[in-house]
Amino acid sequence: MKALIKSGPGEGLDYVDVPTPAPGRHDVLIRVLRTGICGTDLHILDGNPWAARTVTTPRVIGHEFVGEVVATGAGVGGILPGQLVGAEGHETCNTCVNCRADKKHLCHAARGLGVQRDGAFAEYVVLPAESVWVHRPGVSLDVAAVFDAFGNAVHVADAFPLRDRTVLITGAGPIGAMAAAVARHRGARLVAVSDVSSFRLDLARRAGAHLVIDAGAGPIDAAALGLEHGFDIGFEMSGNPSALRELIGAMAHGGRIAALGLPDEDVLTDWTNISLRMLTIQGISGRKVFDTWHTMADLLDEGLDPSFIITDHFAAEDYEKAFAAASQGDAGKVILDWAPRD
Ligand code: NAD
Ligand code: ZN
Repeated sequence: MKALIKSGPGEGLDYVDVPTPAPGRHDVLIRVLRTGICGTDLHILDGNPWAARTVTTPRVIGHEFVGEVVATGAGVGGILPGQLVGAEGHETCNTCVNCRADKKHLCHAARGLGVQRDGAFAEYVVLPAESVWVHRPGVSLDVAAVFDAFGNAVHVADAFPLRDRTVLITGAGPIGAMAAAVARHRGARLVAVSDVSSFRLDLARRAGAHLVIDAGAGPIDAAALGLEHGFDIGFEMSGNPSALRELIGAMAHGGRIAALGLPDEDVLTDWTNISLRMLTIQGISGRKVFDTWHTMADLLDEGLDPSFIITDHFAAEDYEKAFAAASQGDAGKVILDWAPRD
């Protein structure tokens, strides 16, 4: 089969023929239809220090995908050939204290699809049946392809109750913009989104943000936006330390922040702002397995449509163009097509 692999250290990826994987007793063989490019994949392409430390090579990369079940191992029940599926990309250990308490998103030894085990940027992928998510009827292939990233947005947006609250989101990348759509859907009174990119601010508008803020134009001034005491809720979705500092500064006393962004340097801030204003900062990682996935399906059934986030499609063999599109700011989610659905 064709696959996009990281062959070794350094920059670059290779589109090559590799053996089609065979499912074990508790596994599912999936024909990949579409995949979404994530920031993680861009880091692996670059071979940045995180990727050099974490990705074991050679490795088929990629974790955002939708596909069709081809075959299942003898020990798999309830998953049938032909079903449209995705998968939770964190393979959990199932033995640590958190896994055994059914908090798999807090697993102490999770392995990442396309990072430490072969991923989905290929014509076929094999996954443990317990990682597989069977989509409800009616989901579009594009939205299903980015369910993993949508799940990050939903996990953040549902960290705190949002009805009638004021919400500030720093970073209108694909995940921040989708979180804005969920915040609107959850009945937030004001959803404001900041970014340094006008293309990304436009994505936030399409997500339904009431207000977009040019983060390059100076510090966020909540009072000037009509919020005398600051925002109730913050989502840090940029990974930029200065955005997190601004977010902290724009919160009301007792404000609550869900922090998904991954800064690659230390975040220094005036901690007094956090102590005296009694802020809560909740880190967010991945998705709750499978609570977040059920919530995503419910949101789609309720009419939320995150398809505005998909801006580009490329054939898998044009991966270089696709990765170039995903790494410059003028894109939302970029999809690679691996096969048509018959
Ligand atoms: P992205 O890089 O596409 O989007 C980040 C956005 O932040 C960009 O549009 C950028 O212009 C904007 N930005 C940069 N500086 C800013 C500033 N000072 N103020 C406001 N906005 C600013 O990323 P994404 O795919 O949407 O992911 C969002 C973040 O979440 C990234 O940091 C990513 O690494 C992280 N992430 C975390 C998890 C997790 O499990 N915790 C999972 C996926 C992604
Ligand atoms: Zn575990």
